[in-house]
Amino acid sequence: MSTVNPAVTLDQEINPWEAQSARFEFAARKLNLDPGLWKVLSSPAREIIVHFPVSMDDGRIEMFTGFRVQHSIARGPAKGGIRFSPDVNLDEVRALASWMTWKCAVVNIPFGGAKGGVICDPTTMSKGELERMTRRYTSEIIDFIGPEKDVPAPDVNTNEQTMAWIMDTYSMHMGHTVTSVVTGKPLNIGGSRGRLEATGRGVEVVCGESLRYLNMPIEGCRVVIQGFGNVGSNAARLMMEQGYKIVGISEKDGGLSNPNGIDIHQLIAYKQRNGTTLGFNGAEATPSEELIVSDCDILIPAATENVITSRNADKIKARIVVEGANGPTTAVADEILAEKRIFVVPDILANAGGVTASYFEWVQDRQGYFWKEAIVNDQLETILRDSFEDVVRYSEAHNVNNRIAAYMLAIDRVAFTIKQRGIYA
Ligand code: NAD
Repeated sequence: MSTVNPAVTLDQEINPWEAQSARFEFAARKLNLDPGLWKVLSSPAREIIVHFPVSMDDGRIEMFTGFRVQHSIARGPAKGGIRFSPDVNLDEVRALASWMTWKCAVVNIPFGGAKGGVICDPTTMSKGELERMTRRYTSEIIDFIGPEKDVPAPDVNTNEQTMAWIMDTYSMHMGHTVTSVVTGKPLNIGGSRGRLEATGRGVEVVCGESLRYLNMPIEGCRVVIQGFGNVGSNAARLMMEQGYKIVGISEKDGGLSNPNGIDIHQLIAYKQRNGTTLGFNGAEATPSEELIVSDCDILIPAATENVITSRNADKIKARIVVEGANGPTTAVADEILAEKRIFVVPDILANAGGVTASYFEWVQDRQGYFWKEAIVNDQLETILRDSFEDVVRYSEAHNVNNRIAAYMLAIDRVAFTIKQRGIYA
């Protein structure tokens, strides 16, 4: 049985909603999911589209379009990031929202799934314009977010500052400070210790678990990472500190390789100083497209969607692929990787460290009691190790790959909750 329709075109292949649906349907069929629950889970619960004006620095009024999609609130408040990008669209936000439902269920935290975005090019906007756009977008969706309803977080091109503006706007409307309305905030206004590097730490944990499962040593294990942003650079640093050899780093503007291992501390400092990894003299400049198919033990796509497709999947040489990014592999490429017997740790498990630490942030804000970093890291590692174990056991028991196992586990958990709660009439 195949996850994909053989007549699929490249456009369909890289449509994230199609990619999500292909995996959902395959896993739901394997689970023998009740047809009613299938209908409930295959469409988002709520899709909000807002068109709103913002005053620009030169006095012009500009209109922006924003989305917030809540895929499910069955297991708790909806949870998911907000991205600012010129190519945000409803299908992408839908797919990302449903991946959040599955991700939260895989790591068994009490959240549903959501995602949001605003179509804009933040690189051309001033800080003031970004602030006004963020605040107006927040006020447009304010009735639908809140600590018990839907809790946004940072995603592509949004950060701690964006979360601070959202938290402040929401709090002004409520008449009191509500820190738990968003996660990924600065530490002094309700952020959590360990949140910033949590996704990279989760990637490091599941790499370690994969090696243990496959009986491979960490010492000398060669790793290529695509993307040296939040996820990629933190995973690279933590992994180098554990004894992995980071032999390749690829970025949007070019890649770097060094068969003896790149010094990640130096590369992080270099990127902070220069705003790019280009020109770093501790490695050779290497085209990014070459790095993804180069000889290594672990490949970590940690940049963006659709980087492993039908066009390059058969050339991948890594033994293990750990998806730091959301949706880096298309459903067609999944099958090629499976034929090559590549061990894939799917995004909904591999990058779940971020939302797990967000859950801890939400808990701490609601408790008004903040944990030490060692406690955050320790709890995060325990959750990810247990979830990895759950997924590989599910995969063995049902004779499916890790991605389908993760989807089956997640769908089963969400479907069970909906069944227990019943359908409100
Ligand atoms: P980021 O913006 O900090 O970093 C992304 C990096 O990838 C940038 O350095 C950029 O130059 C690079 N990049 C972009 N396109 C590239 C390409 N085609 N080839 C090589 N490099 C490329 O973003 P991030 O927070 O690190 O997120 C990366 C991915 O991880 C996204 O898919 C995001 O949705 C996912 N993710 C992030 C978190 C988190 O906590 N930050 C959590 C879960 C999932």
